[in-house]
Amino acid sequence: MQKLVVLGAGESGVGAALLANQQGWDVFVSDSGVVAEHYQQELDEAGIMWEQGLHTLDLIFAANEVVKSPGIPDNIPMVQQLHARKIPVISEIEFAGRFTESKLICITGSNGKTTTTMLIHYLLMHSGVNVEMAGNVGTSLARQIAEGKTPEWFVIELSSFQLDGMYDFKADVAVLLNITPDHLDRYDYDMQNYIDSKFRIVQNQTEEDVFIYCQDDEVICTELPKRIFKSELLPFTQTDILKQGAYSTIDELIINYNDETMSIFSNELSLKGRHNLYNSMAAGIVAKVLNIRKKLIRESLLSFKGVAHRLEKVSSVRGIEFVNDSKATNINATWYALECMQKPVVWIVGGVDKGNDYNELMPLVEKKVKTLICLGVDNDKLKQAFQGKVKDIVEVQSMEDAVGNAYKKGTKGDVVLLSPACASFDLFDNYMQRGDLFKECVRNL
Ligand code: ADP
Repeated sequence: MQKLVVLGAGESGVGAALLANQQGWDVFVSDSGVVAEHYQQELDEAGIMWEQGLHTLDLIFAANEVVKSPGIPDNIPMVQQLHARKIPVISEIEFAGRFTESKLICITGSNGKTTTTMLIHYLLMHSGVNVEMAGNVGTSLARQIAEGKTPEWFVIELSSFQLDGMYDFKADVAVLLNITPDHLDRYDYDMQNYIDSKFRIVQNQTEEDVFIYCQDDEVICTELPKRIFKSELLPFTQTDILKQGAYSTIDELIINYNDETMSIFSNELSLKGRHNLYNSMAAGIVAKVLNIRKKLIRESLLSFKGVAHRLEKVSSVRGIEFVNDSKATNINATWYALECMQKPVVWIVGGVDKGNDYNELMPLVEKKVKTLICLGVDNDKLKQAFQGKVKDIVEVQSMEDAVGNAYKKGTKGDVVLLSPACASFDLFDNYMQRGDLFKECVRNL
């Protein structure tokens, strides 16, 4: 009997364990932390052996193959030892991909993955396509396959960590939104390693497949000539005109695909901002490739409700608008948020800095931000960066104080933007809790 060891008992690990068990593998799940109660129950019910709080190496090294959860770094001794013993270490998606006949649309990028994945899923659902969503967002692919789901298409959000453990997997439609520095601590601080990881999205593609990418992204464009692509390349851009792909004019989004053309007024798109115009372009090309009718594409791109914690409009209180962009955990995401603000901004920023260079934001901040509210345990770097650039700088250590101060400082016609450019772990459990608290505090005003 084939032995599978699963490292990490989160959604993807448990999904992989359930699928492998169902396929007749001997499965063992090992998590050095605490396994959530509901996952413990599921594993017990399926009769799968598991442990928490430790890794029993004898059991782990007995594996024929190991599924490693994306959160576990590659450079820890246990994983290195697996490599030394030539035991294949793969990701849940690689494993799950072996057991489905469904076609696969895969989305990666440094920013915009969840938004674009959900937009594509919404668009295809709205168009009557038999489609499910998986990967980083929602239910794991492995679990859905174990549950017997056989949609025509899966739309899958892929992080670089998942891509790292993928070898034979193939995306029928691959989308690469952008590449900006992120998670470099996991890539030996070498940007090329991170770039190579992202480009795994096209590995194994054939002439039948397509690769959709952002032509305005310098990193992607520098990389393209270095590689050989078998798939059809379909770019999108906001600075060029394309016969095949998507581009924008001053007021329209245009998609050209195989002699067919369609256009949508950009101001009618439900997702606002330049970054979201890219996301809508990517989704629009996917839809054209799948032969969806123009009317349905247009309707979907106009009616998609957006995703919580990504430039999410919370409400207006006495003429002050509140926007929750808690998911902006790096400079690039915050850049796009500030870029699309059209009113004076009271900006709530801060948290765990991942090596930010705030200079990139300076022109936008000087033009748009009237008050800076630093929300973090350690705000020194922020204060230093913006001293003299923003007149009014306030320092707080709780969301309640952040929102309270923002409300006090704001006047009618302003927007209060939570777009932290930092991770949340100093004061919050995660970005979702940070965003939910923001919304709660706004509602309590
Ligand atoms: P991811 O899943 O890649 O983290 P999300 O869709 O959750 O991406 O969005 C994360 C943050 O990035 C949000 O602040 C969002 O407004 C911003 N964002 C969304 N799309 C893009 C894009 N194409 N380029 C840059 N930033 C983006």
